Amino acid sequence: MAGRRRPAVQPATLIPGDGIGPEVIGAAVRVMEAAGGRIAWDEQLAGKAAFERDGTAIPDALIRSIRRTRVGLKGPLETQIGRVGYRSVNVALRKTFDLYANVRPIKSRPGIKSAFSGVDLVVVRENTEDLYSGIEHQIAPGVVESVKVITARASRRIARFAFDLARREKRKKVVAIHKANIMKLSDGLFLACARQMARRYPGIAYGELIVDNACMQLVLRPQTFDVLVLENLYGDIVSDLCAGLVGGLGVTPGANVGVRHAIFEAVHGTAPDIAGQNRANPIATILSGAMLLHHVGQRRPGLRIERAVDRLVRERRVLTRDLGGTATTSAVADRLIALLPR
Ligand code: NAD
Repeated sequence: MAGRRRPAVQPATLIPGDGIGPEVIGAAVRVMEAAGGRIAWDEQLAGKAAFERDGTAIPDALIRSIRRTRVGLKGPLETQIGRVGYRSVNVALRKTFDLYANVRPIKSRPGIKSAFSGVDLVVVRENTEDLYSGIEHQIAPGVVESVKVITARASRRIARFAFDLARREKRKKVVAIHKANIMKLSDGLFLACARQMARRYPGIAYGELIVDNACMQLVLRPQTFDVLVLENLYGDIVSDLCAGLVGGLGVTPGANVGVRHAIFEAVHGTAPDIAGQNRANPIATILSGAMLLHHVGQRRPGLRIERAVDRLVRERRVLTRDLGGTATTSAVADRLIALLPR
């Protein structure tokens, strides 16, 4: 390290979450520290654990912490379906901090069994509007409407985000995915905004694909995609499809990013079937931690983690069951630490 300045310590909020959350978050914190990440964690409860302790799933202390640190690493949180209970923490965090961009890097790693190799793309999903605006009503018995809201402001800023990401990561092409042939006004507006933004980034190629065709192309030739930008609903579906292209939930990291704040988390949920058994795959959360390190300018530890993950899956010695091994969560973290490049 002679001559290399150590990065300043970055404060960050740590949300262990429910189910397998504390196990995978614990593994991520250990690996990030061993890789040389300099983070001062402020641990906060959210969701079920907070509700049981404080009677609220979204304590004020959690919101204050994220407002102060501006970055968080989060475990999955149990969402309550169709029950009177607490409101979704994920939605509340997204709204409170206007985390308008959901980012999911999708990368094949030799050693992880999947249908494809050579995939390296990023899904950028608009996170705040579309059919998720929650405006639904019954107009007559047996007839309901769900309102799809698309605004120029949100469409422009997600397109700008996708092009900025492409430029920062030296990627070559952004493809806007839509159904403007049917939803001429809403998806038409989204496309018009993406085209307008594309003209400002002459060094980056721009293309458009109708969502059904995009799905087919993705499962035929995923290697030809680079950056995808989508509205909320198409983004939700296509980003899970893309996770499946490269080995699934256990290895797919993600981030929700706003102008000032960003929360990093794996794509998977609380996996109640294996919670508390030291069997969960921590790789997705560890890679989300590596994204956090990149985001706060600690690139070297972030890259070291990614290289160690590549080595771990290539050697196929210490893997959890979802990847065909028998190892525990903590054994994977230990092996990753041993495999960190010098
Ligand atoms: P899930 O992702 O929790 O589990 C689906 C399957 O994948 C299960 O068989 C599980 O064992 C397996 N799995 C998931 N993550 C794994 C890992 N890291 N290692 C090994 N196997 C893993 O999805 P679900 O069952 O639909 O949801 C369970 C709960 O999680 C629900 O309450 C849901 O609302 C919540 N959830 C939260 C988030 C979040 O907080 N971001 C995301 C998705 C689901």
